[in-house]
Order: sequence, then structure tokens, then C-alpha cells
Amino acid sequence: VRGFDGANVAVLGLGRSGLSAARALRAGGAEAICWDDNQAARDRAVGEGFIVTDLSKNDAFQGVARLIVSPGIPHLYPEPNRIIAAAQAAGVPVDNDIGLFFASLGLGEWDQFDVTPKVVAVTGSNGKSTTSALIHHILCEAGREAQLAGNIGRGVLDIDPPGEGGVIVLELSSYQTELARSLTPDIAVFTNLTPDHLDRHGGIGGYFAAKRRLFAEGGPDRAIIGVDEIEGRFLAGQMMESSGDERVIRISAGQKLNGGWTVTARKGFLAETRKGRQIASIDLREISGLPGSHNHQNACAAYAVTRSLGLAPRLIEDALHSFAGLPHRSQLVAEIDGVKYVNDSKATNADSAAKALAAFGKIRWICGGLEKEGGIGGAAQHLDNVVKSYVIGREAATFALLLKDHPHSICTTMAEAVKQAAADAQPGETVLLAPAAASFDQYNSFETRGDDFIQQVQRLSA
Ligand code: ADP
Repeated sequence: VRGFDGANVAVLGLGRSGLSAARALRAGGAEAICWDDNQAARDRAVGEGFIVTDLSKNDAFQGVARLIVSPGIPHLYPEPNRIIAAAQAAGVPVDNDIGLFFASLGLGEWDQFDVTPKVVAVTGSNGKSTTSALIHHILCEAGREAQLAGNIGRGVLDIDPPGEGGVIVLELSSYQTELARSLTPDIAVFTNLTPDHLDRHGGIGGYFAAKRRLFAEGGPDRAIIGVDEIEGRFLAGQMMESSGDERVIRISAGQKLNGGWTVTARKGFLAETRKGRQIASIDLREISGLPGSHNHQNACAAYAVTRSLGLAPRLIEDALHSFAGLPHRSQLVAEIDGVKYVNDSKATNADSAAKALAAFGKIRWICGGLEKEGGIGGAAQHLDNVVKSYVIGREAATFALLLKDHPHSICTTMAEAVKQAAADAQPGETVLLAPAAASFDQYNSFETRGDDFIQQVQRLSA
């Protein structure tokens, strides 16, 4: 990264993005001064030759030009981070790898390659990864050079400069948008907003504010905004009012939208409309990699982005058909004796689980895990398609109370849940893992939870 030649820059948190920030700073001539509470992480940094210093000690920020914070470190809630507060007290600007990336683009980091890549940033509560991966897929299918980075793919500071016409697709979480000092994508997407991670943002207002920073004054050339919640409608209204209809594409899964430029998915059809005139329509019902109305929303977002980058509707339609989907999101694992097994382990909050419960016909629902605000209780309002629930997790008995008026079974382990659900399921039904809870009570990630589900399903036919 440019802009810090000869300066000392502190790096707090030495996971993937912290270490890549330290490397990029060093490559730009800065001295990275690193810290992480975890000894193993510190050892890795020492192994790479970085200075490791306890940033919580007095005067740690003397002569430091900036503090780079990892997205995994809560800075305000539930408790203010002492190191970040100390940096601010010493007058040191706080930033992260995303801010460094945009700032160094602005400083002409890649001018030597004579290219100006377009940068697309995707944020929202749910659907970020699917939407980002889908945009990337469509661009690649269309022969455009594209790279996926941020929360998915590689770290932003590890991106190779793309060639002419290249596009960088960034998936950005609220933790990342919150701290970045510079956020200047050409195209920004806001998929949707539902309560998640509220403890770290001090409530929904803070969470919305973090995501909204992508659309601040000056903002992107094109804003693509999901308007199925009040926050998205407000944001779109504000941007259209200040900079006109052309700058905003509103998207919706379910609603008909009037005026302006819109992309909507209704009754299985995607439609692009400008000033009331339909430009294109795509039948989404046969697209196997994008089941359910939530994925239709993702298709609308990816369509709007790639249209904004100049792709023709026909090209986008073909690419939608060849999208395989991401593992652990609406992933069809197997079909055994007429029963489908779907892994949606990434459904860690109420809204994403509710969307999955609406997407697969009659369902045998495997749910439960570590409780999140608005989690399984919220999803339990959407049981119309659920024949029976199979509750997993250490707190399975407590969760089961929320399902007391519906058929359910306390299984605790994935093995037991899959076994029971498979034994009960009738042809035409779907056994769905959509936990509406975090995985950390029994697993170290949603991926290992999903892998366990897949393994148990594979045992059924072994
Ligand atoms: P994120 O990166 O925002 O977590 P993912 O694409 O990984 O989003 O999907 C997370 C979970 O939310 C998955 O369970 C998925 O099935 C569900 N989901 C995907 N897209 C949407 C959407 N547009 N609205 C609601 N839920 C969604």
C-alpha cells in the first residue's frame, strides 16, 4: 500500500486480514508494529519478521501514523476496546485493510499498470456471499476479468492488479464498512437488513449506520438497493432525491416497484424496468443454483450490477443457469428415495432460516445451536411448511420449548437428527439444515457444521 513509506503503522489483530495488511504495508515501505492477544498469532507475525509490541502499554502509539484494526475485533460494544481508544486519545487515525485498499487506489497504486479497475462492493445482512460470488461468476462467463475479495475469496490487499476492463468484487461485512476511512466503490450493493450482530453495533441503528457508510456523501456512481425493508426504502429514497433516478437501481423480491430503474423478482420471473417500461425478463424457476425467493433477490442484485457494467440481459441469463451456488447455502447434498437433503448451515439468523423454510416445499427442519438475538424464536414463526423439527445443539431442550406447539424431537447431535429425519421423511419432502443459530456450541464454524450434515447424509446411502 502507498502513502506510508517510512512511517510506523500499528496493526491490531493478526488473522488473515491483519497479516496481509502488515505485508502490504511493509511492501509499501512502512514498518508494521503488530499485536494480537493470541500467542500463536503473535508467533506467526514474529516468524514473518514483523515487530510485535504490546499495543496496550503506555506510549505504544507514540510516532505511529495509523492503527489498522481487524474486522474480528469489537471496537465499541459490548465493551470499548482499550487499544483502539488509546490510539484515538493519542490522535492516531483508526482504519482497516478496506480503508487502506481504497486509499491506495486513490493514490494511484495501480497506475503503473495503466488500468482503472471497477470496484463493486456488496453489503447487507444476508446474501452478501451468494450475490458477490454470482456477480463474479457472471463476469467470468462473459469473459471479463474479475476477482473476488474481502469477506469472501482473498483479502483486499492480496488482490493482483487486474487487466483492462477488470472488475474487483468485494464482499463487505458491517464490521469492515464501519471502520474503513476510505470507501469509494464504483458500484455499491445493499441487499437487505435484518437484525444480526446487534450486540457489536449497539442495536439496529448502529448496524444500519455501519452498512450505510458505503452510500455516504459523494457515494458510488451506481447504488443498487434492496427495498424490501424500511431501511433500504429510506436509503434509496434519499439517494434518488439527492442525485436523481439514474444513479439508483432498486431491487425487490416480491414487490412491484413504480418509476425509476428497477429489477424485481415476482412469481419466479426477474424483470428489469426503466421508467415504467420493461427492458428484459428472465424465468428464474428453472435455475437450479438459485432456489427460493431469497436467491431471486440475489439474482436481481447481481443482474443490476452486471447490467451496470454493460452486460446484455441474454448473457446474464445464460450465466445464471450455470451458477452452481455456494456450499452451505441452499446446497442440495443428495436425493435419496425421493427425499432431498439440503445444507443451509450458513442460515445462522432468523431471517435467513425463515427464507430457507419458504423455499423447499414440505420440510423436515434440523435447527438449533448457539442462540442469537432474533434467532430460532424468530424463525419459529415460519413453520407453515415444516412437518416436524429436529433440534440439535447443547441447548436443544431449551430451544425445543419454542416449538412446543409443533411436532418436534430433541436430537442434540447432527447424527441423531439426520437419522431421525431420514427415517420419518416421505418422498417429495426435504430434510433441511437451516439452524437459525450460530454453530460454536458444537462446532468451530458453520462450515464444519455443514460438513457434518453432509457426512451424516452420505452415511445414509453407504
Ligand atoms: P452472507 O454472506 O450475507 O452471510 P450468504 O450468501 O452466505 O450471505 O447467505 C447466508 C444465509 O442467508 C444462507 O443461509 C442463505 O441461504 C441465506 N440467504 C442468502 N441470500 C439471502 C437473501 N437475499 N435474503 C435472506 N437470506 C438469504
